[in-house]
Amino acid sequence: MSLYPPYTRITKKVKRMTATVEGVGSLQAELRDRYPHQPLKNQKALVTGANSGIGEAVVRHLAAAGASVVVNYVANEPAAAAIVNEIKAAGGEAVAIQADVSKEDQVQAMFAAMYEAYGTIDILVNNAGLQKDSAFADMTLDQWNFVLGVNLTGQFLCAREAVREFLRRGIKPEVSSAAGKIICMSSVHEVIPWAGHANYAASKGGVMLLMKSLAQEVAPKKIRVNSIGPGAIKTPINRSAWDTPQAEAELLKLIPYERVGESSDIGRAAVWLASDDSDYVTGVTLFVDGGMTLYPGFATGG
Ligand code: NAD
Repeated sequence: MSLYPPYTRITKKVKRMTATVEGVGSLQAELRDRYPHQPLKNQKALVTGANSGIGEAVVRHLAAAGASVVVNYVANEPAAAAIVNEIKAAGGEAVAIQADVSKEDQVQAMFAAMYEAYGTIDILVNNAGLQKDSAFADMTLDQWNFVLGVNLTGQFLCAREAVREFLRRGIKPEVSSAAGKIICMSSVHEVIPWAGHANYAASKGGVMLLMKSLAQEVAPKKIRVNSIGPGAIKTPINRSAWDTPQAEAELLKLIPYERVGESSDIGRAAVWLASDDSDYVTGVTLFVDGGMTLYPGFATGG
């Protein structure tokens, strides 16, 4: 996984590194150097689905920016444990907590475990998500419910627990100007229809109005709720779309900026949305997509 954009000197170093725990650990330390002002110092953050892809980059960036983090995972405990160890080795604070975000009892147990470890929550990143693709006529109810259950109901369940704690605790001015921040991992497919993926697109469209409705409701309580809308980011969820030169060339036709995104592109956006640098920002989707939502088909006149 790349933690930096491809154009930095550090990526060259990353490429030289083998993915040993030692190598990645020092990479996490270098990532910390990126945030000398520690914008998330003294804040407690929970990232769902944080042992892979975008969630991993987000949790690493939040930790590098000074937050104590929870690495939520549903499967593959060793990956979560390795991330926790690397963050700790770089001087950060991290714990791994297992929970299926689509299950109410597991979500509540996860928040209880987080409060046991850290006392409270300041930042929730609702990142866990998946696809079960199918032609519409063949889509089973199980495929529909599975995707909606994780991608939309999971975001509702986690956001509700976080809001309850933000309301209980209120603002701590020495920690943040806001009583709490929620970042929903949406997608360009909250606005771009996606044939063959009706369940996924419906879930992300749902996330958009969940985010905006919640943002409107809790803004007077000084709780900020925003989304990140990634475009095409190289992660396991979409490997087939970029892992051959032909597939990548096809994908690039949809991206005016002419590069496929890295999970670090999302990690840096998440730090900004979680920090007081974005204190007047609520109820928006920040598309981090290289222009994918700019109707690239019209670039030559339409
Ligand atoms: P990924 O498959 O690498 O990561 C998804 C994570 O969610 C994994 O850690 C997985 O274990 C976890 N997860 C799945 N079901 C879960 C559950 N029930 N409970 C807890 N965790 C669960 O894929 P990714 O690309 O990193 O996706 C992360 C988020 O970004 C998703 O919400 C996805 O929709 C969104 N997204 C990704 C892209 C992209 O191009 N990669 C684009 C737009 C949006």
